[in-house]
Amino acid sequence: MFGGMQDWPLRIMRLLDYAEREHGGREIVSRWADGSTTRTDWRGVARDSRRLAAALERLGIRRGDRVATLAMNHSRHLVAWYGTIGMGGIVHTVNPRLFEEQLVYIFNHAEDRILFYDHVFAPLVAKIRPQLKSVEHFICFDPGPSGTDAPAEGESRPGNLGIGFEALLAAENGDYRWIEGDEREPAMLCYTSGTTGNPKGVLYEHRSTVLHAMAEVQPDIFDLSRRACVLPIVPMFHAASWGLPFAAPIAGCKIVFTADYTPSVVCDLLHDEEVTHTAAVPTVWLAMMQYADASGRDFGQLRLITIGGSAAPPAMIEYFMKRGIRVGHAWGMTEMSPIGTVGAPPFDWEDLSFDEQVSLTCRQGRVPFGVEMRIVDDEGHALPRDGRSSGRLQVRGPWVVEQYYKEEHKAIDAEGWFDTGDVAILHPDGTMQITDRSKDVIKSGGEWISSIELENAAMGCPGVAEAAAVAVPHPKWDERPLLLVVRKEGSTVSAREIRDHLTGHVAKWWLPDEIIFVETLPHTATGKLLKTALREQYRDYRLQTA
Ligand code: AMP
Repeated sequence: MFGGMQDWPLRIMRLLDYAEREHGGREIVSRWADGSTTRTDWRGVARDSRRLAAALERLGIRRGDRVATLAMNHSRHLVAWYGTIGMGGIVHTVNPRLFEEQLVYIFNHAEDRILFYDHVFAPLVAKIRPQLKSVEHFICFDPGPSGTDAPAEGESRPGNLGIGFEALLAAENGDYRWIEGDEREPAMLCYTSGTTGNPKGVLYEHRSTVLHAMAEVQPDIFDLSRRACVLPIVPMFHAASWGLPFAAPIAGCKIVFTADYTPSVVCDLLHDEEVTHTAAVPTVWLAMMQYADASGRDFGQLRLITIGGSAAPPAMIEYFMKRGIRVGHAWGMTEMSPIGTVGAPPFDWEDLSFDEQVSLTCRQGRVPFGVEMRIVDDEGHALPRDGRSSGRLQVRGPWVVEQYYKEEHKAIDAEGWFDTGDVAILHPDGTMQITDRSKDVIKSGGEWISSIELENAAMGCPGVAEAAAVAVPHPKWDERPLLLVVRKEGSTVSAREIRDHLTGHVAKWWLPDEIIFVETLPHTATGKLLKTALREQYRDYRLQTA
């Protein structure tokens, strides 16, 4: 028996309808790669999305077809999302920083029929185009150097329509009505970054996306409201810009997009657009901190920065907190739409010392309603939330993956738990602390050394810009930590100084057997340390202690 309330499917287009109706004039600003800025608002995005939906139908796109984007953050990209979803299509965001073979694999696996791309990626598109089996139309988002949507003479621009995005919209009158359907229909396809093996597709649904967006606006998650101005630095191809383009219409906040991550550009935007909220991976904040120190500039009216994607080092958290900016340390993954946990001040925050506040913020936060979480041992037995036991982190809930796209088997166990591949500690207050990726822990003498904690401690040492701890084979201990360090510009910090610093921060047996200085460290397409490459590189490394 059903109750007496209305059936109102949780469809993504209701988010945009709501924003158009209730927050229509709230601005959406785009800072383009060529340095220009354009402005629209929720009303404009809704109108253009209807036009695009009509244009896609005219091009023969049908319900369930995949429409890919290879683009940075801007309002046309947002229109491509809503326009595609509005006509029943599945928007597939592709990460342009992936290797070419991975890109080709992903496009062919997804069987995308259309590709919208930024002009800066035209050479990449032209290069891989012969290998793309399913893409029928290539459409450029931005005018590029020719100044018009049509390619200039002699300009190499892939595209068999001969028109760009704006021209495509201009041909439609915008009276389109969104396709209706079940709330569990698919809407968006995102592939994992695939540090091992082929990337896997996660197919988000209308319902999962709407529930996730509703959770995100909460004060303890992204704290979005009508007064907020959010700059999502995290790219739209990285787990849907952490869902911000779907949460913003609920709150009616202003969005500022940038296709350029140069710290001075981001800093200009923070000031010029009066940004209050922003979200990005630690590497972006690292560059921002260095820029702010060198230039003497501040962060304007920034109130909350959300840091996630990899562990935020304590020194970074402290840096922003000292400047009166709240830090929300978030953990999640593509498989979780992506929010799993986010940190926020607890009720007794004011009673804590500054150092206690920093160490609490270093943990990855708590689950919102909608995520269930536990840790288990290697036999799958649940472990207590005692702040000591560390185990494999598992999650379940309405925005957690059940089955990867086109995979035969489910990605969850019989009770619905998805194993994240992360290792974590759960504290009695419900906060979670990631200690490692299960593949990255350093197993020394049967005990586990957290590579993340070692790296964080090393990055707290003056003169250290970045650090990576990797396991190398050891005849007696099985594995021992090797620490790779990138010095800050102009620094002469020595291995001994780093070791002395670490001595006060980690257990003695955790101290790295050797510290090597390197120019740079490899990163994945989403800015994480590429540990697989480092492990491969140092696989046969012979430690002096061995
Ligand atoms: P992705 O799907 O590319 O976003 O990668 C998800 C993975 O990034 C997680 O499984 C974690 O290993 C890692 N990760 C994300 N956020 C954090 C964080 N705050 N601290 C530590 N690791 C993180």
